[in-house]
Amino acid sequence: MYGREILVAEDEIKIAEILKDYLERAGYRVSCLENGGQVVPHVKKNQPCLILLDLMLPGLDGLAICREVRKFSQVPIIMITARVEEIDRLLGLELGADDYICKPFSPREVVARVKAVLRRVYAPPPTRP
Ligand code: CA
Repeated sequence: MYGREILVAEDEIKIAEILKDYLERAGYRVSCLENGGQVVPHVKKNQPCLILLDLMLPGLDGLAICREVRKFSQVPIIMITARVEEIDRLLGLELGADDYICKPFSPREVVARVKAVLRRVYAPPPTRP
């Protein structure tokens, strides 16, 4: 699954570029989308191994995208939000996101969270002794 890309859905170009840069240096392939309306079709077509999803996106917001994606895919989703209070609200909604990150974040922290989620989701089944 590591041959598959990580999708970064973020309309702030600078943030998207920083994330892309750090994730690529960590060895992942990365695609970026700025418009929320592009995300669901892209996920259907390219089946990324993980989505970093900004909450506030033009076109379709992160909540609606998360709901749509969950109708056809269990791909891990890390939601990115600008406000800490939002995270409580998002957790309450139980949208099926796998993790939440609050802006401003350190890119290293994002990479660490991505690795943790990928490890958890795609862990090989335990081998018998
Ligand atoms: Ca945004």
